Amino acid sequence: MSESKKPTGSAGKGKGKGKTKTKAKAKAKTKQTKQEGQAKRKKQPAKSKAKAVEAQVAEVAKALEENKPVEAETVEARAVEAPAEKSSEARSPVEKEEAGAAEAPAAEAPKDKEPVKKASAEGEEKIAEAPAAAEKSEEAEAPETEAKGEEAAEAPKAEEAPAVEKEEAASPGPLPEEKVQAAEAPAAEAPKEKEPVEEASAEGEEKIAEAPAAAEKSEEEKAPGKPAKPAKRAKAKINLNRLEMPKQTPEVRRHNFDEVATGYTYEMAMEEASRCIQCKKRNCQQGCPVNIDIPDFIKHLQQGDVEGASKVLKLKTSLPGICGRVCPQELQCEKSCTLNKKGAPIAIGRLERYIADWERAEGASSMPDIAPSTGKKVAVVGTGPSGLTVAADLAVWGNQVTMYEALHVAGGVLMYGIPEFRLPKDIVQREVEYVKSLGVELHLDTVIGINYSLDELLNGPYHAVYLATGAGLPMFLRVPGENLNMIYSANEFLTRTNLMKAYLHPRYATPIKMGKRVAVIGGGNVAMDSARCAVRLGAPEVNVIYRRTRAEMPARLEEVENAEEEGIHFHFLCTPKAFISDGRSNVAAMELIRMGLGEPDASGRRRPVPIPGSEYTMEIDTVAVSLGTSPNPLIASSTPDLETSRWGTVVVDERGKTSKARVWAGGDIVSGGATVISAMGEGRLAAVAMHQFLTE
Ligand SMILES: Cc1cc2nc3c(=O)[nH]c(=O)nc-3n(C[C@H](O)[C@H](O)[C@H](O)COP(=O)(O)OP(=O)(O)OC[C@H]3O[C@@H](n4cnc5c(N)ncnc54)[C@H](O)[C@@H]3O)c2cc1C
Ligand code: SF4
Repeated sequence: MSESKKPTGSAGKGKGKGKTKTKAKAKAKTKQTKQEGQAKRKKQPAKSKAKAVEAQVAEVAKALEENKPVEAETVEARAVEAPAEKSSEARSPVEKEEAGAAEAPAAEAPKDKEPVKKASAEGEEKIAEAPAAAEKSEEAEAPETEAKGEEAAEAPKAEEAPAVEKEEAASPGPLPEEKVQAAEAPAAEAPKEKEPVEEASAEGEEKIAEAPAAAEKSEEEKAPGKPAKPAKRAKAKINLNRLEMPKQTPEVRRHNFDEVATGYTYEMAMEEASRCIQCKKRNCQQGCPVNIDIPDFIKHLQQGDVEGASKVLKLKTSLPGICGRVCPQELQCEKSCTLNKKGAPIAIGRLERYIADWERAEGASSMPDIAPSTGKKVAVVGTGPSGLTVAADLAVWGNQVTMYEALHVAGGVLMYGIPEFRLPKDIVQREVEYVKSLGVELHLDTVIGINYSLDELLNGPYHAVYLATGAGLPMFLRVPGENLNMIYSANEFLTRTNLMKAYLHPRYATPIKMGKRVAVIGGGNVAMDSARCAVRLGAPEVNVIYRRTRAEMPARLEEVENAEEEGIHFHFLCTPKAFISDGRSNVAAMELIRMGLGEPDASGRRRPVPIPGSEYTMEIDTVAVSLGTSPNPLIASSTPDLETSRWGTVVVDERGKTSKARVWAGGDIVSGGATVISAMGEGRLAAVAMHQFLTE
């Protein structure tokens, strides 16, 4: 990384000479916000002040961690104020991790063996009404639970055929002759400078605890006979309000595909990081499905060391720029953050994004050490987040990895589904390049099940295979009129728009026809993405039709709020019964029926129940059906000994092992549709199991 490189963009500061300067600036800014008690603390020598602050912060942290009631007036200090004393402590565990990670991947395994904590399925709603879909849809709402529950119990365990596997692993043959045919490929408002925090109290910071200073206490204890003087209180405040991230205004962003949220600046990232109280009990880390050392990377940020923070991140994730943008942190690490008990949790996702963007702006890439070669070869099928995670982990641990991807570009849903305004494609490609830089080979335009069968891979050069082909098969309502023109599956709609770049037509060849009154059926992330793409493609009116209420929507809250701000209309407790033609095979209207909510179903959400006689019609001319997806049956249908569930998902044990020798699987092909981080988490578990198998 070049020292002379000027930081650029919102993420570009904090390295080399500029770092000290900017850090000082950030610190100065932080100081501006301080209120009472400042002068008093200034009189203390810097070192003892920092120590006192640390002790106080630790005390407050302990109280918060233990969820003890904390007294009204406290300590006025922020963890960021004591970098000098903290730095040596902070570095040692990180350095230990760094040294250990490459040398002893297996040693890390036990941590990673913890069962993946599932986020609530982000998959779309399935409509109960259609008879054929009815049974499937309700069950499909919790496919992960089902697959991991009953079926996982039935699935053969990895250990069931160790001898055979070992034998097979020892004698891989050459790959059949190359028979791959190239598949037919299928003005923003300036970011607001440090917006005032919405919920800030008058003082800007909330008082959350009161802790008499230890020294003062001991003075009192030394003189038991004397009347007790009122204890002097050392004050430390912890800011309970998170720093908002600047965004394009709704009026502006309705007309472009540029990223909505523009990211923290260096100063903002430092300010947000400074709120972290460095809990001893790492609640946030426990809430992360890939077990990122969150307190450690935040500690590096608190010291202004963005590069160090990045190194810590990369120990556990190869995709920080992606996770920082699309992971449901509100249900995972941020939900578990200690500060969540009293105020807003640390904006962990935004900090993760900041670090990844900083690295990108600097043109840097922190690389892990690659372990000596194991001499083993692995094929990874599918290049979504699950495949990328397995490929990166196994490559770092010394295995030779080749990825196969059906499309002309790697990245899976991150490339063809999630729109540019939520996840810029150059960020996905940068993270794909990072995985390649670890020595991973990538074959695009190669469909396993057509160009090669799974057995051909296993009988060829590969000792093991990881299946991560996702769940790209759309579900439909199965109601009359669903095959009329201008009714898209959300998959097709988003693939045309994002992967084929229809939003840049005619610069790109793929067009997309957009009407004036659009209906998107469903309430998940895919529905939100479809609706928001329709707005940007020029539809004057976009409606989301969802059969439950806002509270049950599986989409990320942030995305629902963004959609509302962009003028999208939400219609709750209703579902289409039929689509009506304009007489020329185009959709002109839909018949809807109102729903009530009954008893909770298997997913824990209240079951929608149609209200007889409540039918009504709505005029529309374009529809995107976004009810969820299931795995493409191609590989399963050409591999008879690969066990699948009745929903078409691949059955695995708790470490991702399938029924077929030397084959593991994870991500949406197993869950039926979940989240990026759960796909990565399953990948991590399987990678550990595969590496163990390969090196036994
Ligand atoms: C529109 C949309 C928005 C979403 N938003 C979010 C979000 O905000 N947050 C979140 O956490 N999750 C979100 N998700 C879910 C998330 O993207 C998925 O859970 C995740 O991508 C699954 O990862 P994966 O690696 O299992 O599969 P995928 O990402 O689906 O990747 C599978 C890859 O395998 C390839 N493939 C398929 N068959 C073959 C074959 N036979 N041979 C070779 N290659 C093959 C595919 O082309 C694809 O590239 C969203 C999903 C969609 C569709
Ligand atoms: S992010 Fe939250 S839980 Fe994690 S160490 Fe910081 S304050 Fe504690």
